Amino acid sequence: TTSRTPLMAGNWKMNLDHLQAASTLQKLAWTLQDAKHDAAAVEVVVLPPFTDLRTVQTLVDGDRLELRYGAQDLSPHDSGAYTGDVSGAMLARLGCSYVVVGHSERRDGHGETDEVVAAKAAAALRHGITPVVCVGEGLDVRQAGRQVEHVLAQVDGSLAGLDADAVAGLVVAYEPVWAIGTGEVATPADAQEVCGAIRARLRETHGDAAADGVRVLYGGSVKPSNVAAVMAEEDVDGALVGGASLDPADFAAIARYQ
Ligand code: PEP
Repeated sequence: TTSRTPLMAGNWKMNLDHLQAASTLQKLAWTLQDAKHDAAAVEVVVLPPFTDLRTVQTLVDGDRLELRYGAQDLSPHDSGAYTGDVSGAMLARLGCSYVVVGHSERRDGHGETDEVVAAKAAAALRHGITPVVCVGEGLDVRQAGRQVEHVLAQVDGSLAGLDADAVAGLVVAYEPVWAIGTGEVATPADAQEVCGAIRARLRETHGDAAADGVRVLYGGSVKPSNVAAVMAEEDVDGALVGGASLDPADFAAIARYQ
C-alpha cells in the first residue's frame, strides 16, 4: 500500500439531517485537528445523504477543512425526466469528490445490477467524480467458498467499459454483505484474499498502472479496535465505514489507525 494514499470513507447511510451533519462534521474536524491529522498521509472522506451536501460544502469551504466528501448514489443519466434522481453534474456542482456506486443496500434493496453500477460509475467519471464501486458476496456464497469468483464477476461487470486511466484513479470497496452492520468482521486474511484477487484481476484486464493505482478498501463492521489489523494487509488501502463513521471520535480514531 506504500504508493497509494490510504482512504477512510464514512458512509452515513440514511442518518443525520443537515443540522446534525453540521455538528458531526465540526466535531470530526476538531478531533482530527487536535490529533494533528495529516491529510496528505490519510485521506478522510464523508458520504452524507444528498440533503446534507450543501451544508457540508459550506462548512468544508468556509473552514477550509481538510476533508473531502461525496454522495451515496447518483443517476446514470446526466439530466432529464428522471423524477427523484440526482445527477453527477449536480454532485460535481456541490463539490463532491466521490460517489458510492453499487452499495449492497442498493444492489439488494433497489435491484441494481452490475450493468447499472457500471453506467453509474461512467456517469460519475464524466463529471470528474471518483466512483467508489462496491462489491461483495452474501453469506451463502461465502459458505460455499465461492467469494473470489463471485466478487471478480462483480468487478468485471461493474467496471465494464472503463479504460486503464479511469481504473487507476478508481476506488473499489470490498464489502462482504454478511459483515455489513452485523458486527461480524471478516478476518484480515479474508479481506486480503479478496482485495488481493481484485487487484490481480485488474492487473490482467487493465495493466500495471491501473492495478497499482486503484485503491481497494475493505468495508464491514470496521471499528477503531479492528482497523489496524485489516490495514496491515498488503492490498487493503483503506476502509469504507458505516456505523462507526457516525461517531466523530470513533471515525477520527479509525483515521489514525497507524
Ligand atoms: C457500509 O455499509 O458500507 C458498512 C461497511 O457498514 P458498517 O461499517 O456499519 O458495517
